Amino acid sequence: MTNRTFTMIKPDAVEDGHIGAILNDINAAGFRIVAMKYTKLSAEQAGKFYEVHQERPFYGELVSFMSSGPIVAAILEKDHAVEDFRKLIGATNPANAEDGTIRKKFARSIGENAVHGSDSNENAAIEGSFFFSALEQF
Ligand code: ATP
Ligand code: MG
Repeated sequence: MTNRTFTMIKPDAVEDGHIGAILNDINAAGFRIVAMKYTKLSAEQAGKFYEVHQERPFYGELVSFMSSGPIVAAILEKDHAVEDFRKLIGATNPANAEDGTIRKKFARSIGENAVHGSDSNENAAIEGSFFFSALEQF
């Protein structure tokens, strides 16, 4: 019963040199990489990706942060991928994240929180196809 989730290593973690350590944690937790790219979002693309948060007070800050530097985008596969990946990354606010989670170890703050993880199977599919065509998934 394998399924998929979508992640980004966000601009803060890229700038802080944590790409390798985060990918290592992802591999160690048993996720298989289905697709991956190093890229940078325009403000327009970041706004589209996070458009569900349009009405939230932090939307402008989120869009400007997510387009501030390069990111790593990836599709990951594992049984219970969405749920298990959310456990691996920890709470949105790193101050509330459990020890050993990626956000606890690598996030700067609630806004600049190192990684994205899809919150449902449906959103994982939508987010994965935002970045990758079928030909880029293995
Ligand atoms: P993500 O969707 O990036 O995996 P999440 O599901 O844990 O994070 P969401 O509620 O979906 O959290 O918020 C999306 C992103 O918006 C957060 O990861 C964070 O970067 C930013 N964010 C959320 N809440 C705040 C806040 N109170 N202040 C600033 N930024 C915030
Ligand atoms: Mg979310």
